[in-house]
Amino acid sequence: MPPEPAARAGQPDTAGSAAGAAAKVRIPVLSDEVCARLVSRQDAFEAVEAVFAAAAAGAARNFPVVREAIGHGDALYGFKSGFDRSRLVLGVKSGGYWPGNSDRGLARHQSAVFLFDADTGQLKALVAGNHLTAIRTGAASAVSIAQLARRDARVLGIVGAGHQAPFQLRAAAEQRDFERVVAWSPHRRTLPELAQVAAEAGLPFEAVGAEELAAQADVIVTITSSFAPLLKADWIRPGTHLACMGTDTRGKQEVEPALLAAASVFTDEVAQSVSIGEAQHAIAAGTIAESAITPIGAVIDGTHPGRSSDAEITLFDGTGVGLQDLAVADLALRRSAGQGGIAFVDL
Ligand code: NAD
Repeated sequence: MPPEPAARAGQPDTAGSAAGAAAKVRIPVLSDEVCARLVSRQDAFEAVEAVFAAAAAGAARNFPVVREAIGHGDALYGFKSGFDRSRLVLGVKSGGYWPGNSDRGLARHQSAVFLFDADTGQLKALVAGNHLTAIRTGAASAVSIAQLARRDARVLGIVGAGHQAPFQLRAAAEQRDFERVVAWSPHRRTLPELAQVAAEAGLPFEAVGAEELAAQADVIVTITSSFAPLLKADWIRPGTHLACMGTDTRGKQEVEPALLAAASVFTDEVAQSVSIGEAQHAIAAGTIAESAITPIGAVIDGTHPGRSSDAEITLFDGTGVGLQDLAVADLALRRSAGQGGIAFVDL
């Protein structure tokens, strides 16, 4: 007797099941290694840019974020979810931050993405989120640089030297003809690793102080877990573009609120910007109004002109949205079709 056909990925396997019995679904399970193989930095850039534009056009939306201290091991845990109606991408990223993981030789950020069939609600794929989070976050600041930085930007400044910093540096370096990188981190131990990443990108690297960085850099990416301003407003020169990427939780802060008043402020998602992003402090202090914050998707789709002069300071408040996670996870899933080395689970 020939073997029964296996269920196809994301398709019910009704073979042998009695009428009314639950049909099995074959679910692809994509590891971090598989995702790294299937989704390049450029892929992530294009996916993130497209979903920011879809969100600004009202075709995609993020659902409210849940992020809670679980009262165990100082861990933060939560959900970021959304639906891109234009591409029928529905899902949730679940995960968070476990500060003690470095002692275990594990990444402190841990997450996984669950993709669902938008027509039936059935689970479609389980996708590891650690690598994809890193490249979609690099992509977000890169998109902001592509859209908002001066064309003649030559010095890239990186504030922070943790896990995420190399991903921001690599993606940012591709957006302008940068000639060098200056970097500052509250903890200097990992700066040599960042120097290595800059060297791989063909850029000279110098570790400097925070004020000196602001005095030299045309583009500044901040990527720390700071809870107090690291950059002062009056340090920032006219024409600078900042991508503030570290503030993704209530209470975190990387720049003075006065800087947001001096800058034109853009974001991935206004609701997150004012609640968990860098703008939360300026809003609370009454320094800026929510209506002054522009979704970057509006610049991408041309409904907002973006930078208006070479002297304008532009600031992208990158809070990290569920739609970014779903966009890159969906791309990994589509790319995995027909590829070898993919694990499946029957549900
Ligand atoms: P990490 O723990 O590996 O590195 C943290 C960095 O912040 C280091 O440079 C460290 O020196 C600095 N730092 C730590 N504590 C600090 C403090 N109290 N004050 C000032 N600086 C401090 O973390 P990571 O994975 O590199 O992530 C950095 C930040 O970016 C975190 O806040 C993380 O939540 C955030 N993040 C945001 C997004 C997004 O989409 N916006 C995505 C991923 C990570």
